Amino acid sequence: MKTKALSQAMEILKVVRKITESSDLAQVKLEKVTKAIAQSFKSDSAAFYIAIDNNYLELFAAYGFKKDVNNKVSLRFGEGLVGDIAKTNRSMVVKDVLKHPKFVHIEELEDQQYKSFLGVPLVRRSRCIGVITLYSKKTREYTPLEVEIMETVALVLAELTSSEEMATFRNRIIKERGFSGRERIKGLSLNKGYGMGIAIVHHRRQMVNKIFAEDKEKELRRLNVAHAQMNEDLDEKFNATKLGIGEHTEILDAYRMFAKDKGWYKRISDNIQSGLTAEAAVERAYEDMWNRLSGTQDTYLRERLNDLRDVADRLQSYLSGDYKDPAKQVDSDDIIIVAQNLGPAELMDYDFKKVRGLIIEDGTPTMHVAIVAKALNIPVISKTRGLFEEIKTGQLLAVDGDENYVYINPSVSVQERFKVKLAEKKKLQEKLLELRNLASKTSDGTRVGMYINVGLAFDLDYIESTNCDGIGLYRTEIPFMAADAMPDVDTQTSYYKQLMDKAGNKKVIFRSLDVGSDKLLPYWSNMNEENPAIGWRSIRITLDRRAILRKQIRAFLRAAEGKELNVMFPMISDLAEFEDAKETLLIELEKEKKKTGKTPKKVNVGLMIEVPSVIFQIEDILEKADFISIGTNDLAQFMFACDRGNPKLTERYDILSSPFLKIMKYIVDKADKAGVYCSVCGEMASNPIEAMVLIGLGYRNLSASGSSFGRVKSMIRSINVSEVSEYVQSLLKSSQKSLRPQLIAYAYDHGIEIY
Ligand code: PEP
Ligand code: MG
Repeated sequence: MKTKALSQAMEILKVVRKITESSDLAQVKLEKVTKAIAQSFKSDSAAFYIAIDNNYLELFAAYGFKKDVNNKVSLRFGEGLVGDIAKTNRSMVVKDVLKHPKFVHIEELEDQQYKSFLGVPLVRRSRCIGVITLYSKKTREYTPLEVEIMETVALVLAELTSSEEMATFRNRIIKERGFSGRERIKGLSLNKGYGMGIAIVHHRRQMVNKIFAEDKEKELRRLNVAHAQMNEDLDEKFNATKLGIGEHTEILDAYRMFAKDKGWYKRISDNIQSGLTAEAAVERAYEDMWNRLSGTQDTYLRERLNDLRDVADRLQSYLSGDYKDPAKQVDSDDIIIVAQNLGPAELMDYDFKKVRGLIIEDGTPTMHVAIVAKALNIPVISKTRGLFEEIKTGQLLAVDGDENYVYINPSVSVQERFKVKLAEKKKLQEKLLELRNLASKTSDGTRVGMYINVGLAFDLDYIESTNCDGIGLYRTEIPFMAADAMPDVDTQTSYYKQLMDKAGNKKVIFRSLDVGSDKLLPYWSNMNEENPAIGWRSIRITLDRRAILRKQIRAFLRAAEGKELNVMFPMISDLAEFEDAKETLLIELEKEKKKTGKTPKKVNVGLMIEVPSVIFQIEDILEKADFISIGTNDLAQFMFACDRGNPKLTERYDILSSPFLKIMKYIVDKADKAGVYCSVCGEMASNPIEAMVLIGLGYRNLSASGSSFGRVKSMIRSINVSEVSEYVQSLLKSSQKSLRPQLIAYAYDHGIEIY
């Protein structure tokens, strides 16, 4: 640094030190620092942003703006100029902000009057913890020297931001005004996507006022009429909702059967015979069922109870003659439903073309309404404690299912951002649709096999919509988890056959049952292990309970009759385990040959690479296996000894770091040398930047989730493999905790599409 610049830096740092060491309140310190920096750089305005949840930047202090903007501006990492700095961890100089492709207008900052901009990230342990920005009304170019000075100042500001005093202040502000009191509430996303609309607060229960009735016949007649009318309306509603096949339709059909169930109707009639009004008789029938089932741990039965509450409420409102179409409560084409709880049929009460979001306070990922909402592409947020009480019908709401937030009465700038996001998403979807018929080839002509991961029946639709090369992972445990008893060979055969038929001539890789740990079967008692992730799970269970494995293999063999069958075993820890499982498959194959003579045309047996021990036997494994597939979710969990389901650890290690990438390279190199088919089916293949690295390491087959398929394909079509390989390999020596910032910056610099 030149002497003049150095002395300017020293000057600012002296001022900053003086302010930080003063006895001023934290907020005052931040404001004074921001002002001092703006003045020192002869800029008109400055803003000090602090990162929240490694995900958002909140403006905490500002200088030079007309209005009070503190805590009124928040930006997602990657959003706008400031968000981009946080995402790439790189400083940015812009001569004309309005012309910059990343510029997003922020109403509160009146930023359209500014010309030039300098922004610098505050970095700590490779993570962006804040951003400091300068604005100038006149066109000027902040010089490289000024950037250097600002970066030096940013080092001190990063220290200040992470001091105990500032952390306490920041947490207090979050709590007090916190994005909750004011306008933003953090929840848990059950389905991704954005939506904005007018709130309809969905109230369920009706109180039963009159309990006893004199005239039983009259009550029975009332029940009969209301029951018939309700079912007629339900039939009409469901038939009008064309959803295609999948779990969601099964759920709605089950609900419809439930509403028509003769046993339930009889119980209500019996209650009327004992002297109750029809409404009270419905309530009693519900309570009896609730008493029997509410103690169960069984999620399937608990969901059924939810459905029953829904049907009971509906019937009661038909009985009292005040059944109102809830959708008519507000006159808007964009609505957001806010409910404590919601049954799948209740969702159907609304015109789903108008539903832009769902907020379900007591929601869980397995609840039926979440599955239906997914099929309808509606974002869903749950676990928003207290929101149901707080929101009134008619308020404006915005739901961000990607980042888990609900905005109440969002400010103009948040509304503008949502509009931009929605428009971007629409454009992206159109673009991805266009990609469907284009080859999955890199810009320098390398073909990358693109497969999808399938679990829910709903995922099957992606085979057609993505035009993928096949199914790289079929998680067979999902239908086992959705059933209420262990499916027998015939039932399994029909599941698998349905899948094979849908896939046509495309490759399908079946994975044998991978239960245990976080994937529990409702009809098996909880095993209560101390360390379930490394406990009795997956192949360990199916080898010990061999009949389960044999039956499943029989179903695979039958479903793939006359076709190619690919089966892989999960969680294999050594060669002997793989050979044992493979032997079981070969014995079953022989038995089928003898018994029916009907077998698949070809059988390939492979395994998932998830447990690090097999990597030390990889050469022997590759001699015996027809293919391998890397389960990066579990492999990373075991490599870093880091529970994949623990939210406290999600940020601790990055798979985009030297140890993990070296292992991934080692595996693909060995597979290539042995000439064995190798793919990646963990989440790593579903994230464009990570998939880019995999291709750079040498992987040529990826299996991604259907919903991220288009984004990964788009990335593939925009990369040059030899350049990416060279860059990725040069990073392997790095000792940095995370290589993500460099890789993102590389992608930006090379026009690689990583939405
Ligand atoms: C994995 O572990 O990466 C994997 C694909 O399997 P699952 O996520 O089903 O454990
Ligand atoms: Mg796994």
